[in-house]
Amino acid sequence: MKIKQIFSAYHFADNEGIKNIRFCPVCGAEFRIAAEGGRERPVCPECGFVYYRNPAPGVSVLIIENNCVLLGKRAPGSFAAGKWCLPCGFIEYNEDFLSAAVREVKEETGLTVAIQSIINVNSNFLAENLHSIAIILSARVIAGTPAAGDDLESIAWFDLSGSLPEMAFVADQEIIERYSAQKIEGLPVDTDFLNTLKSG
Ligand SMILES: [Zn+2]
Repeated sequence: MKIKQIFSAYHFADNEGIKNIRFCPVCGAEFRIAAEGGRERPVCPECGFVYYRNPAPGVSVLIIENNCVLLGKRAPGSFAAGKWCLPCGFIEYNEDFLSAAVREVKEETGLTVAIQSIINVNSNFLAENLHSIAIILSARVIAGTPAAGDDLESIAWFDLSGSLPEMAFVADQEIIERYSAQKIEGLPVDTDFLNTLKSG
C-alpha cells in the first residue's frame, strides 16, 4: 500500500481566508497587506507585527486492542459532526505533542494511554480556514474506564477485519487501512520529557 501524507478536502487557494483577519492582535490597529518574507501578508502599520499564517499542529492517536481500533463519533457542533475519527486534538502552545496526545485521549475517551510510536505525519487541508499538520501516534491503554467526552458523543471499538463507519477525516481512514495491511510499528518516542512543561 502506497504511503500518503497529504490530504486535501478542498481546492487550496493560497492565503484565501486571510482577508478576514483585519486587526493587529498586539495593538489593535488595522492591518495593511504588504510583501513580507516572500509573500503578501497582513502587516501592522503601527507596531510592525506581521501575521504569519501557519497550519495548526495536532495529534491523532491510533489505539489498537484485540485487532480493534478505538474511534469516536464527533459531537454536534464539532467539525464533521456525526462522523467518526481517531481521538485527536490540537497541541496547546505550552504543551509538548506527546502530552497533548495523552491529554486529548483522556478528555475524549476517559482512558489513560502510554504513547508508543510515531506512525505518520500528515498535512490535512480540511477547509479553506482549516489546515492542520497531524502527528499520528500509536498508544496502548494503561488505565481508565471508557467514556466519551469533549468533542466526542460516543466511542466504540471497530474490528479491523470489518468495515469502518463513515470517517470524518480521509487521513484517519488511510492510516487505519495501512496499519491493518502492514502492522506499522513506527518510530519509538522519547517519553522522558512528558509533562515537563506546565500545561493548561
Ligand atoms: Zn500592531
